[in-house]
Amino acid sequence: MENNRFPSPDCIGARFQLVQDRIRAACERSGRNPEHVQLIAVSKTKPLSAVQEAWEAGARCFGENYVQELTQKQANLLQISPSQAADMEWHMIGHLQRNKVRSLIGAVAMIHSVDTVSLAAQIEKEAAKQESTMNILLEVNIAEEPSKWGFSAADVFSAAEAVSHMSHLRLRGLMTSAPLTQDPETNRPYFRRLNLLAQALFTRGLILPGENGFPVLSMGMSGDFEVAIEEGATMVRVGSSIFGERTYAPDRGHDPSV
Ligand SMILES: *Cc1c(COP(=O)(O)O)cnc(C)c1O
Repeated sequence: MENNRFPSPDCIGARFQLVQDRIRAACERSGRNPEHVQLIAVSKTKPLSAVQEAWEAGARCFGENYVQELTQKQANLLQISPSQAADMEWHMIGHLQRNKVRSLIGAVAMIHSVDTVSLAAQIEKEAAKQESTMNILLEVNIAEEPSKWGFSAADVFSAAEAVSHMSHLRLRGLMTSAPLTQDPETNRPYFRRLNLLAQALFTRGLILPGENGFPVLSMGMSGDFEVAIEEGATMVRVGSSIFGERTYAPDRGHDPSV
């Protein structure tokens, strides 16, 4: 959802810069170090040329929802521009079916959307086969929306406990997609709750710290990333504010076609 307080320039590079400016401003307001907030440019449904344009503007992390789209873009970019391909990382952020896990091992820096223990077990199995490890986040349905994937806040402790026994997984933190809203302030309590949940897991030793020593909090999208940053987000996943509107709605829940 475009935030209409901010007029949107019509090229990807300018929009990417604008999002970065807004991230820096949100960090300043909340006394946070901008280096602790990673911008993931969500390129789903957009062509590879859009990914390359964002790269030119400085984007290095890209998020995709569908395994096939992600691996196709990676393969195509490797053909067109190996140097760009080597200079970016990919994040899987959409609902993931167990039979699609294999091709993600070694291909993505992190899987944000681990929403069942059986999916975690599948990632463990495939990572072990390929003698690799995978960084994962547990997805939490923090507002308990019936249409959404993710653990309930109550179930996330036992899930994290189960994952801690899977030696090829590295649980780095939590991810959520807050409700669609016109007023991002209404999502502030959800972001705060996810932060508290991550702190509680971290204190129990169930989340391994990332590079900066903190748990990862992947929260905040085009409509609400500034509020998410004020509440501690360390990764924001921004699509339409960078790449423009998509022809179909963001994947915010059960999509019968996948
Ligand atoms: C599509 C999507 C985003 C980006 O949404 P925008 O509102 O376009 O910024 C972020 N996270 C997930 C899980 C998504 O599916």
